[in-house]
Amino acid sequence: MNKTLIFLLLLLIAVLLLSQLFIVLENRKLKMKIQDQQQELDVSTKYIQQLTEQMNKIQETEMADKSRPDKLRELLNSYLKEQKDEEYTQKIKVPIEELQEDLSEYEKKRRFIPDLIPVKGDYAISQRYSEKHKATDFAAPTGTEVIASAAGEVLSVYQDKYFGNVMIVDHLNEYATFYAHLATTIFEAKTFVEKGETIALVGSTGNSTAPHLHFEVLVNGENIDPETILK
Ligand SMILES: [Zn+2]
Repeated sequence: MNKTLIFLLLLLIAVLLLSQLFIVLENRKLKMKIQDQQQELDVSTKYIQQLTEQMNKIQETEMADKSRPDKLRELLNSYLKEQKDEEYTQKIKVPIEELQEDLSEYEKKRRFIPDLIPVKGDYAISQRYSEKHKATDFAAPTGTEVIASAAGEVLSVYQDKYFGNVMIVDHLNEYATFYAHLATTIFEAKTFVEKGETIALVGSTGNSTAPHLHFEVLVNGENIDPETILK
């Protein structure tokens, strides 16, 4: 099960690296395209400057008709300005939009990954993950807020002889989280909860000697050590 997690993390890292590489390559392509366009623009700018100079000479010699070259020069100037503006907007817009898309995609995924410590405020880890105890126990005073480690749907809320008041949240992917020994639960099954939302209060219900949250993380129904994923 740890292998699955490592594989998923590696896959995530690989996807991120690939998307970064893609952005770098796209940026380079765009830069080259812009350089090409810049060169073309430089050539046409030079050509237009030569034309303008010629026209100025004509203007100097043709003192009789002043209005025509002035009008043409005005047109040329506005043409040059337009070209420049278009270049700048093209340069700025494309890469930033792509980057923002990638970032929002990444954040969307993170929202449903249970990596948030499930208690609000002070706590002490009183028992770590082992073959016999497939959870992390967070010792905290009774009434401490228990928060959803990721967004998802409350799968079930029930009472158990050993675990006391229990809540299970399905993160609508391969992940699910299990919260036990709760004093009270706030939501019923089928409710959507947001990442970080208070879902219950720490208690000592069931077979428990002191108030604590018993927290399990499951990947495709198999327990993993919560501490390998919590941030
Ligand atoms: Zn426990």
